[in-house]
Amino acid sequence: MIVVSENTDSHFSTPYGCYQLHRYPRRKREQLRAWDAADEYLLNHLNEAGLLQPESRVLILNDSFGAISVALSKWRPTAQSDSYIAHWSTEENLTANDLALESVVRLPSTVELDQQRYDLVLIRVPKTLAFLEYQLRLLKRHLSQQAQVIGFAMAKQIHSSTLDRFSGILGPTRTSLAKKKARLIFTTPDFTQPEKEADFPIWYQLEGQGLQICSHANVFSRERLDIGSRLLIEHIPTDPAYQDIADLGCGSGVLGAVAGLRNPQARLYFVDESYMAVASAEETARASSLTNEMVFRAGDGLRDFARQSLDLVLCNPPFHQQHVVGDFIAWRMFQQARSCLRRGGELIIVGNRHLNYHIKLKRLFGDAKVIASDRKFVIIRAAKR
Ligand code: SAM
Repeated sequence: MIVVSENTDSHFSTPYGCYQLHRYPRRKREQLRAWDAADEYLLNHLNEAGLLQPESRVLILNDSFGAISVALSKWRPTAQSDSYIAHWSTEENLTANDLALESVVRLPSTVELDQQRYDLVLIRVPKTLAFLEYQLRLLKRHLSQQAQVIGFAMAKQIHSSTLDRFSGILGPTRTSLAKKKARLIFTTPDFTQPEKEADFPIWYQLEGQGLQICSHANVFSRERLDIGSRLLIEHIPTDPAYQDIADLGCGSGVLGAVAGLRNPQARLYFVDESYMAVASAEETARASSLTNEMVFRAGDGLRDFARQSLDLVLCNPPFHQQHVVGDFIAWRMFQQARSCLRRGGELIIVGNRHLNYHIKLKRLFGDAKVIASDRKFVIIRAAKR
């Protein structure tokens, strides 16, 4: 992403119009734009090469904050993404530019593409290779005979393994020259190549807990339990007074499922901004012997939860938003947790030692204790007074 000064405006100038764009959630001193050089490169190329005809059927995969969807809204594209935040940003940015919400069909990654065949498919290369592979495998049956497929990303996010997926699954692939450190990937679909089904979801057994864990293609730690989560599981408490427990950033739902087994009377909330994570958590929970009441929700953390509505929040926080690394989402989750906990309620998190979350949590909650640690991770408990 391009770093801009605080006063730089959010004016996105494209061959298809000029737009005001923001990243969501909005932050006070936002340093990052809602688009990058790859978005600009793609739109300039589409225009220069005359790739868009009035009747073109356009599919956009993994648009970050709606930059491509907004710029191409005249074509009424379908925009499919695994990110609730990407869809939320697209909606806010459409509205802010006086564009109808219906001008972009927003599809979660867990909903199959419609039956139409697309002429132009624009794919922002996702962070997870397994997810790219999954998307490319499903895509083939949705392409028209003359379809053009163009991948786009910053050059450092495109590896030989990325290009292997495009060529191995879709057909002959080449890349553009780099411009402002961004690159495009051009693929000509070869319909004679055999189709292979995508191998997701996958399952693994969580030893000692009697749980089968389900993971769709874009889910964190898909094949085995994360070592931080392993430590956190040992410290999930039991309390017959718990009524409401949230697994915040639930991924495949491991933390919430274990909490449910230990607290069968409690209502469980599984929340993630990844649609695939929420679907995975639901499959994990439904395949278990849990008897709890359960709610599965795609959202921006606890933004839609009422204040003082939870007794326990469990969280292994993310350390990046798409390709941008930082603790800003973790910090936001901690603030949300504080607001949504009842008095006496607790937030229990796992974090890398070097992130110093306990200092932040102490400042936010007034008290926070490191209750366990190993060489790499700490478990911190913060209670709302
Ligand atoms: N709890 C799971 C575990 O322990 O295996 C996953 C932990 S993973 C480190 C962090 C999770 O937070 C990811 O599943 C990610 O999709 C999710 N996440 C990132 N940003 C989020 C947000 N704004 N709201 C909700 N979840 C978010």
